[in-house]
Amino acid sequence: MALLDTHGRTHRSLRISIVDKCDLRCTYCMPEDQRFLRREELMTREEIATIARLFVERYGITKIRLTGGEPLLRPDAAAIVNDLMALHVKVGLTTNAVSLHDHLDELWSAGLRSLNVSLDTFDADRFKRIARRDLYDQVWRNVRQAHDKGMRIKLNMVVMRGMNDDEILRFVELTQHNDIHVRFIEFMPFAGNGWGRERVYTYSEMLGHIGSVHSFEKLNDDAHSTAKAYRVPGWEGTFAVISTVTEPFCGSCDRLRLTAEGKMRNCLFAREETDLLAPLRRGEDIAPLIEANVLAKHAMLGGLPPFRPEKQEEVLHDLSARPMVSIGG
Ligand code: SAM
Ligand code: SF4
Repeated sequence: MALLDTHGRTHRSLRISIVDKCDLRCTYCMPEDQRFLRREELMTREEIATIARLFVERYGITKIRLTGGEPLLRPDAAAIVNDLMALHVKVGLTTNAVSLHDHLDELWSAGLRSLNVSLDTFDADRFKRIARRDLYDQVWRNVRQAHDKGMRIKLNMVVMRGMNDDEILRFVELTQHNDIHVRFIEFMPFAGNGWGRERVYTYSEMLGHIGSVHSFEKLNDDAHSTAKAYRVPGWEGTFAVISTVTEPFCGSCDRLRLTAEGKMRNCLFAREETDLLAPLRRGEDIAPLIEANVLAKHAMLGGLPPFRPEKQEEVLHDLSARPMVSIGG
């Protein structure tokens, strides 16, 4: 049975946050006073496998991405990847790469061949300002090591006006001699992240800026892709823009989410969520809860108003209480 919502969208993709803690504290993602879950509140490896199996075998989910917080803070992260691989779905992992060196071999052995890595700057001081940790050198070393090992790398850069928009070209130019996929993400509003519409460097600005220096061509996007992909002809890598703020792609969204404490969310911006873990621990059937959660999905942006400048106050007022770090991007 497929997970269909009332707007006719079929859901095939699930993001599972496996931990809400993080070893970075990016300003756009984690409020300074963030509190974390206790270990017993997190889904165990077995619970993750049980819920994932239900989504795959009963509801036809074909893609699962592990995220967080920082997923590699869990010592069993590679074992969880291994469990998911056994379900014969496409498995991905999004990481800040801080502790990637400790997990790379295990992840590779588990069968993982691609990583989404967050990196917002190539400047160590700026990294410290954005991530509130002085770990740029370690992160970049780990990205290079993973790339050299043969991992396909997607670099995610959150572009914030006046903070790192002057590095967009440098990121694009990284694709000249490296088979790396760079993704520029518009700065999105979440609880406690200081968002303002004026801080969003829009995707059309990004393309205009890149196009003023390099000509590029459009590539084909997957039907449910959130990113619009491009390439400078002849260059090894590619780049893409993710325009959630100025041009949302809700109409083709096929994603569902599960937080680290087992709450199901049908949208990144959802304000309602469904607890799957407590009923599972009581031995109850969670299938009807999953189906009801999907049916309640809003047509756009979790029911928030459009992220236009004149709607800014409303957006900020109506945001979910969860910061991005505890949702799982
Ligand atoms: N710790 C991992 C990492 O940083 O890749 C995984 C979790 S992080 C929440 C997942 C993704 O969300 C990252 O690529 C991050 O850049 C993105 N993200 C977090 N806050 C965001 C925001 N306000 N706007 C856009 N993207 C954001
Ligand atoms: Fe941590 Fe990733 Fe959020 Fe940065 S973006 S605070 S690395 S979870």
